[in-house]
Amino acid sequence: MIIDVDVLVLGSGIAGLSFALRAAQYGRVALVTKKRDTESNTNYAQGGVAAVIDPDDSFEAHIRDTLTTGVGLCHEDAVEILVREGPDRVRELIELGVRFTRNSKAKNPLHLHLGREGGHSARRIVHAADLTGREIERALVAQVKANHDIRLFEHDHAIDLIIERVNEKKICRGAYVLDSETGDVTAFRAKVTMLATGGLGRVYLHTTNPEIATGDGVAMAYRAGAVIANMEFIQFHPTTLYHPGARSFLISEAVRGEGGILRLSTGETFMEKYHEMGNLAPRDVVARAIDAELKKSGEECVYLDVTHLPPDFIKEHFPHIYETCLSVGIDITKDWIPIVPAAHYACGGVLTDTEGRTTIANLYACGEVACTGVHGANRLASNSLLEAIVFARRAALDAEKSIHSVVPDEVQEFPIENHTLPVSEDELDELTLTLRTAMWKYVGIVRSNERLQKALSVIREVKERAERLYERGRLSPKLLELRNMAQTAELIVLSALWRKESRGLHYNLDYPETDDVNFKRDTLLVRNGPVPEQVSALSASEQFSVGSS
Ligand SMILES: Cc1cc2nc3c(=O)[nH]c(=O)nc-3n(C[C@H](O)[C@H](O)[C@H](O)COP(=O)(O)OP(=O)(O)OC[C@H]3O[C@@H](n4cnc5c(N)ncnc54)[C@H](O)[C@@H]3O)c2cc1C
Repeated sequence: MIIDVDVLVLGSGIAGLSFALRAAQYGRVALVTKKRDTESNTNYAQGGVAAVIDPDDSFEAHIRDTLTTGVGLCHEDAVEILVREGPDRVRELIELGVRFTRNSKAKNPLHLHLGREGGHSARRIVHAADLTGREIERALVAQVKANHDIRLFEHDHAIDLIIERVNEKKICRGAYVLDSETGDVTAFRAKVTMLATGGLGRVYLHTTNPEIATGDGVAMAYRAGAVIANMEFIQFHPTTLYHPGARSFLISEAVRGEGGILRLSTGETFMEKYHEMGNLAPRDVVARAIDAELKKSGEECVYLDVTHLPPDFIKEHFPHIYETCLSVGIDITKDWIPIVPAAHYACGGVLTDTEGRTTIANLYACGEVACTGVHGANRLASNSLLEAIVFARRAALDAEKSIHSVVPDEVQEFPIENHTLPVSEDELDELTLTLRTAMWKYVGIVRSNERLQKALSVIREVKERAERLYERGRLSPKLLELRNMAQTAELIVLSALWRKESRGLHYNLDYPETDDVNFKRDTLLVRNGPVPEQVSALSASEQFSVGSS
């Protein structure tokens, strides 16, 4: 079956929803999402959206904090845009019905309560208690459902992008999508396609990310021939709950921001040994410090202590964290919270310019799947929801300019008749576990050449087996995700091997120093036959472009 639309949006997190709402002002939109409408990383975001709202704060300070955290790799033009356009996008979220936490005494004109998080030199985190993402999803999904120009397809799983090659140029014509309930595949033919499929945390055994975060967008874009950037920069959140009953539940950065203290089991504090900002140090420093302390002590976790804060303050500001911890027997007003780091956020992804354009014509990317360059080698807390809303708008405005000149072409139906062999669930589970374990053991917070090589050989074996199963096997979400996770993992490891230095989130014991002479630049990978090739600059056929018919 073929479905014709003007605009195809893959993903219903903050990026996809925001883009869809704007694109619906000028075209018919199909919004395709692989699970339920709200299932996304966005839905789990706790801390908030960073924006300069307080009269005592400044754009310059937010830009400086972002650049400092990104350790020399941020694209400064993208950071300027991110910060300067941020406050207007926050106001628009409020107009769309998002209810952020207010403080009637606050000096800012919106009377928003502004939180503070690690790496920020001012209070600038707009939030809805500690359930910011859920509140944003609620409001945006409601808007999308009320919009007659947007058709929502749930439980529909994008398999691959439809790419036409004209000479050297690649043009995106839409995507093949598996209905995970019926097993049918539809070709969505679109003038413009927005990739908003989110992150990839599930390639690691321990992650804060929900099940949807399997790197599908990066893998699809890579297979289609897009340039992929900076995949080695994976952020590990330093503070996730260590408890068998609630594995990887996130304890928001804001808890340290409001005075939480990291302690060893002896009660001793340690962050002052690692960074001048102590407990408010950036995430990568805190994650590495915890990793080092755990390796030294041989213990399973360290602790976050908020028992010195007033209980009412804790319950008011962190109700979700308070309740979740209480449900597993930890009263955080009285007990220290046992915590460990876990994979959290991908700074790299599908390379885009500041209008969200990828290196494939008519294909945009936005949100966590994209690499706009705002995060560089490390992401400043709460800059990612902001990135999604700022660049979704810019991409939608850009697509509007070109969409009318795009002439839809014929697309082939998906060859579903090739995918008939039964695939064993056990085999898929085993391969997935092997991959995720290797990534956690060898491509984690502290890396080395030997560990990365070990990971590469495991990943390549898993990838080969996944590809073989995919070629003839009956399609299922699990099979598609394994194929995508293996591809994404290979890109992470190859990027990490290429970067022979340590910078931001990438720390290699064999190259502990930062090398600005050779590596103060993005890692760019592009498909070259069966393996990724590292390129130093975009070639003529890989420039950002749209509007090609
Ligand atoms: C626990 C947690 C807390 C966080 N806290 C914060 C915070 O406080 N502030 C902040 O700025 N950031 C935070 N982040 C990061 C932030 O939430 C994400 O980076 C952001 O929400 C990503 O939005 P997105 O729209 O790009 O992707 P997502 O919200 O992940 O949405 C991706 C969508 O794509 C769909 N999808 C994926 N693959 C396919 C496919 N093959 N076919 C069809 N659909 C597909 C998914 O189902 C989903 O709907 C947090 C992340 C986590 C996990």
